[in-house]
Amino acid sequence: MKSLKELLISGPGPSSSHTIGPFRICKHFMEENQGKEVNEYVITLYGSLALTGKGHSTDEIILDAFKPNKCTVLFQPSFNGLRHPNTMDCKAIYKDGSSLTRRFLSVGGGAYVEEGEAYKGNNCYPFSTFDGLKSFMKHSQIDDIYEVIKMLDSEDIFEYGKKMLKQSFKTVEDSLQKEGILPGPLQLDRVAKKVYLSSKRISDKAERRTLMLTAYAYATSEANANHEMMVTAPTCGAAGVVPSCLYYEYKNHHATMEQLVKAYLVGALICNFIKENASVSGALLGCQAEIGSAASFAAASLSYLHALSVFQIEYASEVAMEHFLGLTCDPVDGYVQIPCIERNAIASIHAYTSYLFAQDIALFRRNKVSFDNVIQAMKETGKVLPVELKETSLGGLAKIIC
Ligand code: SF4
Repeated sequence: MKSLKELLISGPGPSSSHTIGPFRICKHFMEENQGKEVNEYVITLYGSLALTGKGHSTDEIILDAFKPNKCTVLFQPSFNGLRHPNTMDCKAIYKDGSSLTRRFLSVGGGAYVEEGEAYKGNNCYPFSTFDGLKSFMKHSQIDDIYEVIKMLDSEDIFEYGKKMLKQSFKTVEDSLQKEGILPGPLQLDRVAKKVYLSSKRISDKAERRTLMLTAYAYATSEANANHEMMVTAPTCGAAGVVPSCLYYEYKNHHATMEQLVKAYLVGALICNFIKENASVSGALLGCQAEIGSAASFAAASLSYLHALSVFQIEYASEVAMEHFLGLTCDPVDGYVQIPCIERNAIASIHAYTSYLFAQDIALFRRNKVSFDNVIQAMKETGKVLPVELKETSLGGLAKIIC
């Protein structure tokens, strides 16, 4: 399984698969054409990239990536013959009239592959499931998941995680200061600041926590909808969940940065099992793959932070995903705003509850559903979801509110 550095990526919002992935693809294609006399680049977007590319600003990010070169973006909403719903062709037309075309797939979380080629990356983990992790820990006589990460991932993984988490916290803090209207036709107000100020006036502890988690999740998701720089956790659309839960612990329970970074990386490892065995792409498996994965990530991080056992960390991650199974992706007008912003808040509250279940209920009865089981169920469920409900804006809320 690949390094956590490939799960936690920084790039332009509002969508890891529709902005970060295409941006990286374009930069890669430009590098391939370095030194050649290119007259124009022509990028053709297919499937989900074409259907929600306008709302997700895919075309704008592509034009940005190719600047100052001439570039044209074409939309082909058909899925015919596609091997992945997020497919794009990059064509370079040279000054002598010849051309080169390559087909790329934006596979989720900012990752991409050239069609027909295997994903290249740092495969540093000898396991890719929760059961595999537990066997490795037993065999190596390690009882702390972070120690496994430290042993197997890149030497600078702690510093890398710290940089990503700090950037995520800065996004929360900056966004809590902002007001105004989000881009696009929905004309949604930024409300994170108002929710945060309301939370300060509430004395009931549980209600206050709910509003604080909401404010922090809104803050990140509103910044994402505003096309600001994001850290995938594991995607941009679902990037509000993990920072919300960890920032809450930072501000309200005085967790140290060192404890938080370790917990963040442990959550990322658990989430990486989903990316490896199913997908974190809404276009491939629906919102369960984005929001469900983010909730598992956050629940695992919180459980590790509160020193729960490996069994309880698995329970929290499993519960977090189980109750999002079947969740559809239906962004209204193709904008990562409705239902996405509110959904991040709901998922952060759900992740917190999943951690509390693991702490207070897990020991009453052995869980019959493992984390690996729930990943498999999510994958199977995603496969049978109709295409209208997988980041195409052709069904669900997107069909009703238009
Ligand atoms: S509905 Fe979920 S998967 Fe779809 S764009 Fe919004 S956050 Fe992403």
